[in-house]
Amino acid sequence: MTAMLDVAGLGHTYQAKDGAHRAIDGLTFTVGAGELVCVVGPSGCGKSTLLRTICGLVKPTEGGISLHGNKIDGVPEDLAVVFQDYSRSLFPWLSVQRNVEFPLRRSLGRKQRRARAAEALELVGLAKAVGKYPWQLSGGMQQRVSIARALAYQPALLLMDEPFASVDAQTRFELEDLLLKVKREQNTTVLVVTHDIDESVYLGDRVLVLSNSPASVVADLRVDLPGVRDQITTRESDAFVTLRGEVARLLNVGRPTAQRKVAAEAAVAAKWAEAERAALREAHAEDHATN
Ligand code: ADP
Ligand code: MG
Repeated sequence: MTAMLDVAGLGHTYQAKDGAHRAIDGLTFTVGAGELVCVVGPSGCGKSTLLRTICGLVKPTEGGISLHGNKIDGVPEDLAVVFQDYSRSLFPWLSVQRNVEFPLRRSLGRKQRRARAAEALELVGLAKAVGKYPWQLSGGMQQRVSIARALAYQPALLLMDEPFASVDAQTRFELEDLLLKVKREQNTTVLVVTHDIDESVYLGDRVLVLSNSPASVVADLRVDLPGVRDQITTRESDAFVTLRGEVARLLNVGRPTAQRKVAAEAAVAAKWAEAERAALREAHAEDHATN
């Protein structure tokens, strides 16, 4: 079987004003069709860099990525991305319905777009919010809209970068279960980046554990839990507890030097993330201006 996604010997070095920065190093893994793979690693280790190379926003300095056996060069058509920061990923001047329709504007006619968006919004439990604007919704609802937008596109591969990191715990659980439901019902192939060990085990068919910066794969673990999961019983089960312990050990959690290093990396990563968001905002504004 050819893998849906094949990442081979992927490396990337950023060239910044203050010198070269090696973000990822020799990353190799595959994701099969219909699989949900979680990538877990400390803040600043290179997780977002990995996703940026897969979605074609960053050209890796070494190695390659194939989607359905085709080398990725540029932004692939058949993937969708959900970013961490919902508050900046929706267009405030468009209604919920229009936000979800937006990526379909070139591929589908108006009627089909309408129907596809309505279906996705129904799936995420937002059928009643179609006419609202993003700023009229809570954070959790906005992230649901981002997810609906990605699902309406019906991508071969769904990439998610810490998608639930900025919502409250209750909403986070709901969104995790929503993702599992969609994956089950639509057999979507998903790659989720997270720094939350428990979340990686709860969601994943597999968990890829990354090293500190520059990131490489330290372990590729199969999650031997039933397909249908439950926030309480699954998290209490022996298999879950054993696996989360294994991931935590691999990540060296609790070691003071590891923690200091993580905090320092996170501060730098946050700076770059802000620069990236500014670039995205500009791109969105331009897109709006030309449409
Ligand atoms: P993560 O998503 O795991 O927190 P990132 O992929 O955002 O990590 O960043 C990995 C490393 O690369 C960090 O040390 C970060 O500071 C650095 N980095 C990220 N983007 C850039 C950039 N555009 N230029 C230079 N360094 C960058
Ligand atoms: Mg990141």
